[in-house]
This record gives sequence, structure tokens and C-alpha cells, in this order.
Amino acid sequence: MNEAQRLKALRDLDVLDTPPEQAFDDLVGLAAQICQAPLAMVSLVDAERQWFKAVCGLSARETSRDVAFCAHAILEPERTLVVQDTLEDPRFADNPLVEGAPHLRFYAGVPLVDPKGLALGTLCVGDTRSRQLSPEQLSGLEALARQVSAQLLLRSRNTELHAKHARLAESEQRLRATLETANEGVVGLDSSGRIRSANPAAERLFGVREEELVGRLLTEVTEGELRLERPCVACELLVLRGEERIPAELALGTHDVGGERCYTAFLRDVSERKEVERLKDQFVSTISHELRTPLTSIRGALRMLDSGVMGTLGEEAHDLVRLAASNTERLVRLINDVLDFEKIQAGRMVLTLEPVSAQSLCEEACADLSGLAQDHRIKLEVAGAADLRGAECLADRDRLLQVLVNLIGNAIKFSPPESAVYLSWRLSGSRLRFEVRDEGPGIEEAARARLFRRFEQLDGGSTRRRSGSGLGLAISKAIVAEHGGEIGVESEPGRGSTFWFELPTRKRLQLSPPPAARGTPVLLVEDSPDLAQQLQLVLEQAGYEPWVALSLAAAKQALSGDELPALILLDLNLPDGSGLELLEWMRAGAAREVPVVVLTGSTADSVSDPLLLDWLYKPATERRLLRAVRRAVRGEQDERPWVLVVEDDDDSRAVTCKLLLHLGARCVEARDGAEAIRLAQDRDFDLIVLDVGLPSVDGFEVVRALRGRDGTPPALLIYSGRDLDAGEREGLRLGLTRYLAKSGGNRDALGKAVVELLDGLIDVPKE
Ligand code: ADP
Repeated sequence: MNEAQRLKALRDLDVLDTPPEQAFDDLVGLAAQICQAPLAMVSLVDAERQWFKAVCGLSARETSRDVAFCAHAILEPERTLVVQDTLEDPRFADNPLVEGAPHLRFYAGVPLVDPKGLALGTLCVGDTRSRQLSPEQLSGLEALARQVSAQLLLRSRNTELHAKHARLAESEQRLRATLETANEGVVGLDSSGRIRSANPAAERLFGVREEELVGRLLTEVTEGELRLERPCVACELLVLRGEERIPAELALGTHDVGGERCYTAFLRDVSERKEVERLKDQFVSTISHELRTPLTSIRGALRMLDSGVMGTLGEEAHDLVRLAASNTERLVRLINDVLDFEKIQAGRMVLTLEPVSAQSLCEEACADLSGLAQDHRIKLEVAGAADLRGAECLADRDRLLQVLVNLIGNAIKFSPPESAVYLSWRLSGSRLRFEVRDEGPGIEEAARARLFRRFEQLDGGSTRRRSGSGLGLAISKAIVAEHGGEIGVESEPGRGSTFWFELPTRKRLQLSPPPAARGTPVLLVEDSPDLAQQLQLVLEQAGYEPWVALSLAAAKQALSGDELPALILLDLNLPDGSGLELLEWMRAGAAREVPVVVLTGSTADSVSDPLLLDWLYKPATERRLLRAVRRAVRGEQDERPWVLVVEDDDDSRAVTCKLLLHLGARCVEARDGAEAIRLAQDRDFDLIVLDVGLPSVDGFEVVRALRGRDGTPPALLIYSGRDLDAGEREGLRLGLTRYLAKSGGNRDALGKAVVELLDGLIDVPKE
């Protein structure tokens, strides 16, 4: 037997030197009775002594081990030691307990065995005369010994349990104190999201007692996107406190209790932080607005220097100009991002919805970024589902482009050289899904939720800091959300990321109605009703007033009235004769001055007639048609369009005019609204570039004055230093109108808008 092990087991029982206990006293009493013995005890054999947990017929509580009979009995744990006559046994004959009090002559001891088989002591009986135990007495004594062993075990388990319980109670007390003093609201939820408990901070946050919260769904007392199955570290939501809505940050923990999935919601009131952020944003926004106007001039001036319009620069000077230009771009981007975000947050983002083709959008985004891709040696690949080439969604084209450009730009920035970035779109349910996939470092799962928050740039590890404001994804998310869509990212760290967004595909919206004033009349002589209708629409949208004649006779009738059209668009093949007959007929009458543009399907016709201005072959593109119409209506030799630039800031005006001249337009400048109205009365402009904030007579009044006039209104480009809300935009609309924020969009935005608005009157500049 391993004595050390045995002693350890005995000590672990934690029973030595404890006060007497009824259970052991009873068992010892029973043993004495059954065996008819004057002495009985539960003796535990310690290292140097035997100690009695219970004893009957003896006053001592312990003796030294070397005189102990029990020390012998435990040597054979499976056997009961019976000494019939101690005087006859050489092991005990000279034992002081035999020679002196209590003069032991008889001894029977049953080892007390623990679950590991270690004998810790005995249940024994003794007598002062030599004797024997009957078989019944012996088995009775052995049964009692098993009870003593069981009792010892129970006692030890009980002690252990008590200790555990005490520790548990203490830790619960500590936990409760933590919960009660925590500043964060801690709310326990069951598997369905019902509240089970709420700490005092949560009571304060919701403004009600715990009893009133328990049993309600967390989603009933908050507003925001909350899904239990989605991990959430710091999602933002609103806590409903009476009529108030308190902005809060939520972290959700899950754990299993008794096989049930439970949740703990940690809620932090962030209203104060939000207020500080709002003030900070307001400050940043004010500063940024002030920076916009001078930056626009700097940017325009540098761009012109760079393009060589102002003469050729020396190599070194050119490098410096390029450096200044690229840093100006960075500054403009940063300011635009900050302002954009501020606008979105304040709920002032106005979407101008129109049907947008997925393919053209993707192509434009790629064209915008081809330079960046080249610089990073990245291949850009675009692929749309073949059956979705014409897929359209209803969206604000510029805003959506901003999202795509941001996602592709990021993908390029984070991709290793010589890798590819894939852009694709497809249908996902009833939504149009765009995906931008890269082969970059990827993004750890934990970081993915944070990405779409503002000023969030991931550091260290696989992604290092790249130039950027950390606002791009936050803005993208807001834009997509404003379209009723969703944005997200899937990523496998080390292998790349796929950023995606989905937009609902909806019915086309009605395009904005034509302006109230009458357009310039154009007589359209065309026998095919389908083509006539199509051309009619094109002309109407460009602000003209088309009169349609489906036959020669109808055309003659239209030209016999008091009012004549400004132009005739003439098909030569008519059901009741040739269009050329109309020319003959016109020569004799009042209509002889009206210019004619021929529209023909056959190349065989050839006429030279002074009335004929242009000759279009079907199918003529919309652009070509409008160009011919515009030129004809104006009837000028010089084809260059007239543009009125209304702007009070001298530098900005000068830069805009330079750009316009460069694009091939003629420019007239106005410093304020009154001058603009006067100039617009003297001449028909093709385009007016109008600043809104002008001294005395502002942009709104200029538009009001222009609306009152008959004739096709000029195209209008609202070029303003601040953002306009929907009402303001409506107040500034005139026929074909575009809105552009100064230093908004990319650096060619102004040029692009001008080219688009002058549709066909100037040629697209070659880079
Ligand atoms: P930034 O203007 O700084 O790029 P964003 O909001 O667009 O700001 O992106 C935020 C952060 O997200 C980036 O700084 C980068 O850490 C991470 N990120 C964005 N796109 C990718 C990507 N394609 N691969 C890896 N990390 C990316």
C-alpha cells in the first residue's frame, strides 16, 4: 500500500480533529451493541497516531500509532482482523493497552476503505476478556463499517459542495455588483429576443423599471436593424424612451444556457458623442464650403496650364504643375467627401432618379479609373450577364457612379501589381447586383462590419494605410441605402475581397415634364407614324414644339397658317408625292424663308436647293438630328455655340470662360443676375452657366425671368458653391437643366456637363 497516497486521501477527507458527529456516534453505538462489546470506535490512522472520530467505552480521543491495533488491521484492507486473545498473540501481548488500561483481551477491526481501495482506518470493537464473534455479529460489524465508509465519503462531498456554494455566492455577488454599477445597459434576452433581465443602466436608458421591460421584444423598444443571428459589435440603433429616441450603440453576445441559445445585449447611450460629432461636422463643413470656391479656381487654372492651352511649359514647370494639380485633386476629393458625408448625415442628399443602364454605368466607371489601374499595373475586367446587357435600374446616375468608382478604386489600391479587378453585374432575385472582386489581401471577418463606418481605415497586418479619407465606404453605404439597396463585402483573408451592392429594379419613372413656356415650332413631315412619334419625342425633350404632318397635303396645310415653323424636317418619300414637291410649292408662298433639313432613307436622292440646309440619312442618331436642328434654327454661319457665364467671383468666371473657349464655345460674361437677364434678352444662348448665390438678383430670379419667355429655352447648368435641396432644384429648373456643385464630381465634371448640355453643338474634346 502506498502510505503517502493513503495519508493524502485521509487528509483530503478533512475529518481529523473535527468535533463528534451524531451519525458516527450512532454507528459506533450500534457496533458495540451488535457485538456485545464494552469498547467500540471509528479509528482513523494518521501518520503518527490513531484518532477516533467516534468512540464508546473509552475517554481518550487518540493514541500513538505504534500501540494501535488498527495500524495492523489496515495492512490488509479486504480482511477483518480478529484477535481472539491478545495475550496469545505475540504482536499484542506486550501492548500497553493490553498490559495496562483498558486491559484489552479481544479485538475485531474492519478496515474503512475509500473508493480507491485505500484503508483509512477501522470500525473496531474490543473487550476485556478473550472471546469470539458469532458469524451474525461479524457480518453486522462489516455492514456497519461499510456505512461508516459511506458516511465519510458523504461528509467529504458535502464539505466540498459547501465550499463551492460559498465561492459561487461570492462570485455572484461580485457579478451583481458589476452589473449594477455598470454604465452600460446590459439586457439579457432569450432565444426569440425577449427581454429576461435588465440592469439599472438599462432601466435608466429605457426610462422604465426592469419589470416593465421583461417579456417585451428588444425590437419593440428599439428602432433600427437588429437581427439576432447576425454578429454585431457596435451597431447603431435608437432606444425608445417614451417619445424620445436615444441614439445607442449595441454589442450582442451569444451563449448557450441549458441547450437554449441566449443573448446579452450591451447598450451604450451615444447621444452626447453624437452631439459632439455633429458640432465637429458642422465646423468642418463650414470650413470646407469656404475652401470650395478658391479651390475650384486653382483646379481649373492648373488644368488649363497642364493641358497646354496656355502655351507649352518647360519640362520642369510642367512637372510642378502636375504635382500641384494632383494634390489639388486630393484636397478636392477630401473636401467633397467630408461635405458629402455631412450632407448625407443631415438627410439632405437629393437623388435625381433616372433609368440607368448597368452596362454603361460600369463602362463609365472603368473609363474613369483606367488611368489609376494603369498606374498600379492592374487589369480591369468588366462582365455582365449576357441576357442582362440592357439591364436598367432606377437611380441617381452620378451617385451610383460615385459608389462604383469608390469600390473599384479601393480594389485597385489594395491589389498587388499584375493582378486583376473584376467588375460584374447580374440579377439577384428582383435586384440588380453589382460586384467588384479583387485579388488583394482580403479583410478579416472582425473588421468587415467596421469598414462601412466613417473614417475607418484598417491598419497593420495585411492592409496598410493607403491614401484616402476613410469616408468612401461610409458614403457608398449611405448612397446605396438611399436607393433602397444594400451593400456588403465577402472576403477570404489572403485571397481577396468582393464588395457588392444590390439595387431594386423598378418600373421606369416618368421623365420630368417639359417646361411650361412654348418651344420653337418645328414641322416634322414624315409618313411613318412610328418614326414620326419617335422624332416628336426627341424634339419635345430638347424643348422644341414639333408639328407633325404625315403627308404632303398635311404639310401644305400646316404651312398655310398665320404662324410658320422655324424649321422643316422633311422626309422625301411621302404617300401623296415627293418631299421635293413641297420645296417647289414653298417657293411660291409665305414659307419660302423657312429652312429645310431633309431626312431620307435613300442615298440616291440628290438635290441642291438654297432652302436645304442639311441632309440626313435615316436612321440618323438623336445627336446628329438635334445638331442639325439647332444649327438650322439659329441660321448662323459661325457654328460655335453661345454660352452665358453668370458668376460674381472674378477668378471662377475667368477659369470657366477659358474652359468654354477651349471647348469651342463663345462666351459672354455676367457678374450678377440683373446683367444676366438683360444679356439673355438680347441674344439666344445655347447654354447658361449660372451661379446661384449672386449679389442683389440671385440665380432663382434669373431662372424665373427666363421661364417667362417663349421659344426653346437655353440649356442650363447650375454651378453652385453649395448643395441644393429638391425644392431649390425645382426652383432653378429650366428645360434641359443639370446641377453641378463647384469642385463636385471628378475634375472633368464641368467640361463633361457642358459637352452634354451643348449636345451636338460642340465636339467632344480629344484628350
Ligand atoms: P479610403 O478612402 O480610406 O479608402 P474607404 O471607406 O473607401 O476609405 O475604405 C476604408 C478602408 O477599408 C480602407 O482604408 C481599407 O483599409 C479597407 N478596404 C477597402 N476596400 C478594400 C479592399 N478592396 N481590400 C482590402 N481592404 C479594403
